[in-house]
Amino acid sequence: MNLVKYSMGIGDRFARQGQAQLSAIVQAKALGVEITPVWNKSNREHILVHTHPDSVRVEADAAVKALGWTGPYHVDADHINLKNVDSFIAASDFFTLDVADFVGQAATDAEIQAFVTRHQRYATGLRIPGIDRTLNISPEDIAGIARKYLVAIREAGAIYRHVESAKGRDRFITEVSVDETDKPQTPVELFFILAAVAGEKISAQTIAPKFTGRFNKGVDYVGDVAQFEKEFNEDLAVIAFAIRDFGLPANLKLSVHSGSDKFSIYGPIARALRKHGAGLHLKTAGTTWLEEVAGLALAGGDALKLAQEIYEKAYARIDELCMPYAAVIDIDRARLPEPKTVKGWSGSAYAAALRHDQKCPAYNVHFRQLLHVGFKVAAEMGDVYYPALQAHADVIGRLVTENLLEKHIKAVFVRA
Ligand SMILES: [Zn+2]
Repeated sequence: MNLVKYSMGIGDRFARQGQAQLSAIVQAKALGVEITPVWNKSNREHILVHTHPDSVRVEADAAVKALGWTGPYHVDADHINLKNVDSFIAASDFFTLDVADFVGQAATDAEIQAFVTRHQRYATGLRIPGIDRTLNISPEDIAGIARKYLVAIREAGAIYRHVESAKGRDRFITEVSVDETDKPQTPVELFFILAAVAGEKISAQTIAPKFTGRFNKGVDYVGDVAQFEKEFNEDLAVIAFAIRDFGLPANLKLSVHSGSDKFSIYGPIARALRKHGAGLHLKTAGTTWLEEVAGLALAGGDALKLAQEIYEKAYARIDELCMPYAAVIDIDRARLPEPKTVKGWSGSAYAAALRHDQKCPAYNVHFRQLLHVGFKVAAEMGDVYYPALQAHADVIGRLVTENLLEKHIKAVFVRA
């Protein structure tokens, strides 16, 4: 099973917006860009929302049927490991093997030495086409990288073989993700991680490193954009070289786990893709749920009251809601509006504070982040929340489609 050049991971917490998301991909196709939609949902989200992985397949199939989509599409078991992969096997044909927890667990000295010996030829001054300098790597550098990543990639190999034994050879797409670690990987580290991936005979089609800078949930990139652009270009050069040297799948590409809305690096990413003729898998995570809340607010009446109530509850439970996401949010509590203030807001004031428009003075990045991690509150209010989504499906669907097409697809994939 082959993943095409451009693909997008479209998270949807409550599995209600599949059609609206696919509609953006259909419109992109009309603009001349073929993107494969990949519906993804992690084990963590399934637990928080009390859903089963099968529901993502149901959503994807229904959206595809409703819109008559004839292109490829996939269902991604996002950030899975050996402990939780089994419940994803039936529904998924894309597996994101998350081995970040194993990064830093040291392999034996013998394994490390064997890895260094196998890759010794790169320690004599490595020239990679597309990188305008020689990478001076010592055997000690290679050993250091092996010490940090060999066990993790071996674990990826174990998950890969487990999935392969259940699904069958070439019946699924594999991503290896090391993005949820505390430190970013340099292009040189990425190169040797790919060497280890090849050594484990993992047929990886996407690799998700951790990039430099902060990728907070639902808000823009925070970091050195120029440094990001340089490393992103070098990563693309490294991947093209690794495909040839290690015999990895020819369509291997970067997967950017964006945490959504990394608007300030979309331009550099788009430029780099064109320059290298490279593909991309862009995971936009879960801001579809925020469009649902904005849609409810704009719908007014009881729907606006519901949006206000969700904020009130999230505000009261901020510690609990932020805990699982502590590493990827930065909320300044002093800048959060009081729930009673929000109760006085009109629907458009609420939506303006929430929706990610940096030019809008009412936009409040703290308000947005708190609501982003507050989907658990909505899940618990399912009896009211789901019928409200149904009742206001039109306005919400419009926002979901517009968000995906205008802010993400056009910025990254459509040539201006
Ligand atoms: Zn990720």
